[in-house]
Amino acid sequence: MSLIVQKYGGTSVGNPERIKNVARRVAEWHRKGDRLVVVVSAMSGVTDSLIKLAKEIMAEPTERELDMLLATGEQTTTALTAMALQAAGIPAISLTGAQAGIVTEGIHTKARIANITPKRVREYLNQGKVVIVAGFQGQNEEGSITTLGRGASDLTAIAMAAALKADLCQIYTDVDGVYTADPRIVTDARKIEEISYDEMLEMASLGSKVMQARSVEVAKKFKVIFEVRSSFNENPGTICKEETKNMEHVVVRGVSLEKNQAKITVVGVPDQPGVAAKIFTTLAEAQVNIDMIVQNVSEQGTTDITFTLNKDDLARARRAMDPVVKAVGARELRSQDGISKLSVVGIGMRSHSGVAAKLFQALSDARINIQMISTSEIKISVTVEEANGPDAARVVHQAFGLEK
Ligand code: ADP
Ligand code: ASP
Ligand code: MG
Repeated sequence: MSLIVQKYGGTSVGNPERIKNVARRVAEWHRKGDRLVVVVSAMSGVTDSLIKLAKEIMAEPTERELDMLLATGEQTTTALTAMALQAAGIPAISLTGAQAGIVTEGIHTKARIANITPKRVREYLNQGKVVIVAGFQGQNEEGSITTLGRGASDLTAIAMAAALKADLCQIYTDVDGVYTADPRIVTDARKIEEISYDEMLEMASLGSKVMQARSVEVAKKFKVIFEVRSSFNENPGTICKEETKNMEHVVVRGVSLEKNQAKITVVGVPDQPGVAAKIFTTLAEAQVNIDMIVQNVSEQGTTDITFTLNKDDLARARRAMDPVVKAVGARELRSQDGISKLSVVGIGMRSHSGVAAKLFQALSDARINIQMISTSEIKISVTVEEANGPDAARVVHQAFGLEK
């Protein structure tokens, strides 16, 4: 008898038929004698429409109330999933994140899990019930409902699996597993049998949103081995764990594409100590996440600093930066949106050379211009015009022979 945490994403619970499908699958595991905790997302599209609704009422909704609102999406599907199981004769009970003992810290809409005390979850499991837990939410020290950031039902599942010391954690979604690239963009992408935490984390952070990045971080920290698979078929999925077979031999594991990027250039920055600190402290205080940073070689005492960020943060970043540009005596602030970040990821890069050259050549052959470049031990990223993103992903995927 195993304790299994399963998570079903938005598409998998997207309508009543699909919720019944989830219930059928869960019922099968239950009948085999496994103990089950089932984390569910809101129905696909619901979180987005709740955000839109809030904005129709208030242009910049207060974050506490937004959390209160968004949490209802997951609450709806937990209740419906519990009902679907009960209708099939399986004892089931739904819990909000707070009832499941998820305590958070930090700011609303991007709260972090501080700890989980799954006392009630254990009690209901001991009573033979399937426990359905609302993904993406918790409760802070004050007792207010918080949400954990977009896509964070994955995080709820992984953290629950860690807290309960579950035997297995399964992430059920609308694809068969983690692919070498988003199969919606690169049609000949291949399913990856096993992937390491580090590779999954990089891919997730760089735009492969099949897993939420923070959930992979938590999985790595608590050594939660998880499986990504489809809720629509029985195909084997992808196993994500510390080490995979032939880890070093696979040079590039996957290609990720992140849309909705923007860049800001601070032109004519005096080349003095403290200037970069001032710029990036201001951005941090404005809660703007910065990604790639490039500083040019200084000429005649001034330099340019360019960085990328999410397009949604561009207006806020510009507003925060305007006074700083004046204060540090920079010449001007330029910004551009409509850019994408393309990355190749693989642990094997540590011990292989020529990866960057191959990437640049593939883009050059396709006449795609590279704007910015950044590298780390296991990834290389470039930014390109958003319109070139999908083609760039396809040619790079092919250049590294990932379809084979
Ligand atoms: P869920 O609602 O189940 O959480 P998501 O939409 O968050 O599902 O994640 C699944 C989607 O992730 C897929 O439909 C796919 O288009 C996208 N995706 C992006 N990159 C990858 C990848 N490398 N492998 C598989 N799917 C990917
Ligand atoms: N419903 C939330 C979202 O759309 C959380 C999730 O689906 O994982 O971001
Ligand atoms: Mg998701």
